[in-house]
Amino acid sequence: VPSTHIAILGSTGSIGTAALDVLSTLGDPWRATALTTHSRIDLLIEQARRFKVPRVVVTGPEPTPSHRATLKSLGCQLLLGEAGLREVAAAPEPGTVLAAIVGAAGLPPVLAAVAHGKRIALANKESLVIAGSLLMPLARSTGAEILPVDSEHSAIFQALASGKRSEVRKLILTASGGPFRSTPAETMAAATAAQALDHPTWKMGGKITIDSATLFNKAFEMLEARWLFDIHPDSIEIVIHPQSIVHSMVEFNDGSTLAQLSPPDMRLPIQYALTYPDRAPCPSPPMDWTRPHTLTFEPPDRLKFPSLDLAFHAARTDGPSGGTLSAVMNAANEVAVEAFLAGHIRFGRITPLVAAAMDHHQLAPLTHDPTLEQLLAADAAARAFVRTRLAQ
Ligand code: NDP
Ligand code: MG
Repeated sequence: VPSTHIAILGSTGSIGTAALDVLSTLGDPWRATALTTHSRIDLLIEQARRFKVPRVVVTGPEPTPSHRATLKSLGCQLLLGEAGLREVAAAPEPGTVLAAIVGAAGLPPVLAAVAHGKRIALANKESLVIAGSLLMPLARSTGAEILPVDSEHSAIFQALASGKRSEVRKLILTASGGPFRSTPAETMAAATAAQALDHPTWKMGGKITIDSATLFNKAFEMLEARWLFDIHPDSIEIVIHPQSIVHSMVEFNDGSTLAQLSPPDMRLPIQYALTYPDRAPCPSPPMDWTRPHTLTFEPPDRLKFPSLDLAFHAARTDGPSGGTLSAVMNAANEVAVEAFLAGHIRFGRITPLVAAAMDHHQLAPLTHDPTLEQLLAADAAARAFVRTRLAQ
């Protein structure tokens, strides 16, 4: 059921600010019950003022006395840390939690929102990559709805409405191919953060932009799709579509393929996750068919981008009840991307570091149907492994 009261976790990020734009066009009675930031407190305060938001959460550096005084004058309650995130996600208001924190840090409030039977508009794909095997059954038992914000999954979600689940043959995830699609492998390996951050079609936060350049983003999206749509990884195909107009497709058992098209703008999938099953006018522009368009599709280069096969390997190894290898892949990637963005390693080291962490993890007996504690332990061990490698 759609609710007009939304908690926006990660409101100062790329998705968070786009979501506030959506809320302002939807207008009354849509409103934000809480906003959160890690470190951009000034922007958070400006958002709280503009949208008259009663509660905010800061998870990073302590707010200064002057920040606290400003929030107090706005009548805005300040909460801190992961406990604050969980509290605003689980509170009676909101009905919908927009999960737009980046990385594994987004998991605790998503778990809290699912446990409390909320609608979760999920941008934080890492939650499902790590803990899809826990979140999906928990959502079934609490009645929580997990609706995709990721544009590919929103496209699939919309196309799935054209048939029955038993009639779905495969899901086709489209990928822009990122900034290095036609860059020779050796040049790509030496790329700097500035080059990798120059995405051809999407403006996004730093981490996901690097993930788009390694194709780990698509790798994670395959794992996200496997849990969200309860589909076998072998029935998910990845196709490079540089224009980012066809956001993904569903092939049915009669060979009919349905696609969703729109210019690359996250406000549409964000809004659809909030208003579903309804639609409403959206600030993002529709396709302009008075202009010529060329849409192209090609298979990915799996040798140049081993991230894709690493994810399929993780999915098969974890198996139908889930495991810890996907969580290791995610955690290792977070640390490697952080090191790359800080200028400590070159682009070509990211994927081998993740692969090494996964190899190392597989020296121990495999875990299936993991508990949260086992997932968090695997995550922590993978981070420590990559940090040790980086220090060598
Ligand atoms: P951004 O980096 O732009 O924003 C991330 C948000 O999370 C910010 O509000 C940030 O605060 C906050 N944050 C960062 N670290 C922490 C932490 N440790 N604890 C709590 N909060 C934290 O990312 P995006 O908006 O690009 O992406 C957010 C999520 O959405 C990711 O999971 C991404 O994969 C997914 N997504 C994004 C798309 C996009 O177009 N951007 C498309 C599809 C999915 P601060 O401002 O202080 O850094
Ligand atoms: Mg996506």
